[in-house]
Amino acid sequence: MNSTAPRIGFVSLGCPKALVDSERILTRLRAEGYEISGSYEGADLVVVNTCGFIDPAVEESLDAIGEALEHNGRVIVTGCLGARAETITARHPAVLAVTGPQAYEEVMEAVHTHAPKPHDPYLDLVPAQGIRLTPRHYAYLKISEGCNHGCSFCIIPRLRGALRSRDIGEVMDEAERLVKAGVKELLVISQDTSAYGVDIKYRPGLWNGQPLQTRFIDLARALGGLGAWVRLHYVYPYPHVDEVVPLMAAGHVLPYLDIPFQHASPRILKLMRRPAHAEDTLARIRRWRETCPEITIRSTFITGFPGETEADFQLLLDWLEEAALDRVGCFTYSPVAGAAANELPDPVPAELAEERKARFMEAAARISAARLAAKVGQRMRVLVDELHPDGAIARSMGDAPEIDGVVRIAAPGPCRPGDFLDVIVTGADAYDLEAELA
Ligand code: SF4
Repeated sequence: MNSTAPRIGFVSLGCPKALVDSERILTRLRAEGYEISGSYEGADLVVVNTCGFIDPAVEESLDAIGEALEHNGRVIVTGCLGARAETITARHPAVLAVTGPQAYEEVMEAVHTHAPKPHDPYLDLVPAQGIRLTPRHYAYLKISEGCNHGCSFCIIPRLRGALRSRDIGEVMDEAERLVKAGVKELLVISQDTSAYGVDIKYRPGLWNGQPLQTRFIDLARALGGLGAWVRLHYVYPYPHVDEVVPLMAAGHVLPYLDIPFQHASPRILKLMRRPAHAEDTLARIRRWRETCPEITIRSTFITGFPGETEADFQLLLDWLEEAALDRVGCFTYSPVAGAAANELPDPVPAELAEERKARFMEAAARISAARLAAKVGQRMRVLVDELHPDGAIARSMGDAPEIDGVVRIAAPGPCRPGDFLDVIVTGADAYDLEAELA
């Protein structure tokens, strides 16, 4: 380690996609010989990777920049909020530089200018798999940037640009490196996973001499061959998604679909300008469950979208009862500066949106509890995340890290985080399971 190397502090805010950006920047910094500082005081400068998706996240990001300025004074800002430089400089004129999302080169340039890099790059300090901020046994795999849709409540396409898919060979190389480095679960993320490759017309690529198309289904199949758990996030209900469900039934990828439906009323979905808003999603869900009965379906929803009537909301509740989704998240509508939905008439009062969210989550919890109760007595494979004096916290195939439930095992025997265990489910509540070794 070079003791004269500049030390860079790093603050990472936002969603898993931003986390992947942070990991890339940290990997580059280490690759060039910089040291990473765990404190503001010990750093030569601080990089703040921000989130700008909803207004509370903007505030959190601005506060984090203020804190870094107060404790260190030399701050470079990147990430989603970086796309709105004037918002940052208006509040914090002292920042050294502002760059946008995925602007790795620009961040590095700003770091080179304000904390010139050491003469000898210590390339060998970088493990082949890069530096991950997630625990060693799972890793996020970002397959594309940006989005081609124009959902009226969202400004991601404006902040992050149009869809840009990564070459399938490059994605597979990264995934293979991660698995070789000990990763047991790959979490595939992007703004719109099922649109992977659309922008580059499914360009053919090569991986290990094997021809593949830059296409969602080819990627799922190839990832499934690596021997790790593969979990698909942010999948939209396009017709070709049906093709991936047999891969789930055959055990190639996890029987888990994270599919943001957002609403069920066709009128609201149209106002939201959602992709695939005219699909008969209930029929699709029914077919997926016929093909793969063990599938876990996770989704997120918005209550209180402008124009949402009691009838629209009731339709959503009825839809949820019939869809019986396993995992559900719900937000009340929050206007995002610059989003088209802000112009829509008939806003829903905040208290009413909250009340609908509470009713929605009550139904979702009841459904989740019933679906989990049906698992009691089943044998399943789980992945250990943490060990505590009173047992292990693990996850089943139906639980994504950080957003879903867990499986608690009181007497897990000798094991470590990242180990797979076979267990029998002994109990369930609304979100989590209890189990013992099989
Ligand atoms: S699909 Fe819609 S909500 Fe998702 S990133 Fe694109 S525009 Fe935003």
